[in-house]
Order: sequence, then structure tokens, then C-alpha cells
Amino acid sequence: MSKEVINNFCLYFKETEIMDNAIQVLFILIAFILLVYLVWNIIYFRGKKIVKDTSTQLKNLLELNSKYTFDYDIKKQYKFYETFQSKPKFDKYELETLFDKSILYNYGLVIVAEKVLKNRKLYEEYQKKVSNLKSEILKEETKNLHISYKGYIKIEKNLFLKYKLSQPILNSDIICTATYTSPKGRNHYSKKAAYSIVEAPKRYELLQKRIEQQNSEEMRRKHARSQMTDKLRYTILKRDKFKCQICGRTVDDGIKLHVDHIIPVSKGGETVPSNLRTLCQACNLGKSDEIE
Ligand SMILES: [Zn+2]
Repeated sequence: MSKEVINNFCLYFKETEIMDNAIQVLFILIAFILLVYLVWNIIYFRGKKIVKDTSTQLKNLLELNSKYTFDYDIKKQYKFYETFQSKPKFDKYELETLFDKSILYNYGLVIVAEKVLKNRKLYEEYQKKVSNLKSEILKEETKNLHISYKGYIKIEKNLFLKYKLSQPILNSDIICTATYTSPKGRNHYSKKAAYSIVEAPKRYELLQKRIEQQNSEEMRRKHARSQMTDKLRYTILKRDKFKCQICGRTVDDGIKLHVDHIIPVSKGGETVPSNLRTLCQACNLGKSDEIE
């Protein structure tokens, strides 16, 4: 049956005269390549198994790997945009403001920055240790393993590169873009700046501090203003003998008297008798917020 098939097959080629010399050579070549590939694979797999089972360099590498975990969940870029309806506002805008805003409203960026910094530190450490792992196989030993020394080293090197942990992301940028498009859409302007994410934690802290300061300053002002009671006001008027401390006029001159902060509350002045004085409305308004 199979003989018949083969005969028919050969006959077919003979009849069609396709099986000429060139194709025969090609067949032989392909068969040869396949054979070489197969044999090489068998040898290589056998070699691989031997190296895997005996290499202390690989064993040490795997042990080292188990001690290191890098964070791969980091993007290379984080993008933020601000669009403007007015060209002057766009021109005046500083991209650092957008950087600050993006950090302040996305605490996740600070966490990402910490991951990047941790990756850098750990990866540097890891690489240093990896570079210290040298092949420890001796020529003598490879003889006993029935493998060539050169082949062993080559396989070991390949496996070492394969097993080495890949480099995690060691930097990430915050890309800030501001754009302005003219009302009819004819002109389009944009400006862009990149900031390294590792600057985020420091910046965040600074911005938080600034906000805290602003809040505490507001509290101080509120407190200072609430200290001004009717009783205190009367005490000051009485102390100043109901006279404007600049022009000397009294209510008898048809003016209204005010109790004024010498150093204004906005400039850090407190509501205490030593910082208060009686002024008429005209003198008080002329003074406004200035410190004399
Ligand atoms: Zn006055």
C-alpha cells in the first residue's frame, strides 16, 4: 500500500519532470539544516539542563532575585493640561503653576515618585550585587559533566542574562501643557514643560507648608479682629481723651472718631492698647494700610 503510494509519487515527479537536480539539492539541504537544528537543540537542551543543575552563579542569581521586588506599575509620563480663553492670560501663565496644581490635586504622583526613588535605590543595589556574581565552574568539572568548558560558559552566560531581573522604570516625567486657541480657531498656541517626578514629594511638602501658613495667618487675622470689643474701643478713646491723635480734633469739631491699629492687622499688628490709637475718619482714611 505505502510502497504503491511512494511509487505513484515518484512516477508523478518523473512524469511532470519537476524533480530536477536543483530541487533534489534543495530537499537535501533542508533536511540537513533540520537535522543540524535538531542535533544542536538536543545538545543545547542537554547542556542547558546540566548548567541549570550545576551552576552556582545561576543559583546565586535566583537567590538574589527572590530578595528584590521592583515596582513596574509606573508610567513614563503623566500629562496635565490647562486651556485658556484669553491670549494675555495664556502668555502670563507659568507652567510651574500647573506643575504645582497637578501635584497638589494628585497625591498619587507623590506615591509614584516614592516608587521611582525606591526603584532607583534597589536597582542600583541589585546591579552591584549581580555584577559580583561570577562564573565559578572549573574546566575540570566540565570534563566530569561531559560538556565542553566553552559551551558551558556560553550557556551559563545566556541563562544569566535571561534570569536577570529587567530594569524597572527609574524616571518618570510630569508633562505640563498650556494651550490657547483663538475664538475662530485660526491660531493655536501651546507651551510645554517637563518636570521630573522625583521633585514631587519635596514640592508637595513645600506647597502644603505654604497652605498651612496661609491658613494660620488667616486665623491670626480673624482672631486679631475679634479682639476689638466695644469695651476696648471705649478704653482707647478715653485714654486718648477723645481726640484724634494726628490732627487733634474732637467730636465737637463735627468729626467721627475711630480706633485704629497703628500696625495694621494685615501686617501682623495685634489688637492690644499699645497698637491702638484714636483717629478721626479723615486721618484714618488718609492712612489706610500704611505704617507710619
Ligand atoms: Zn485727624
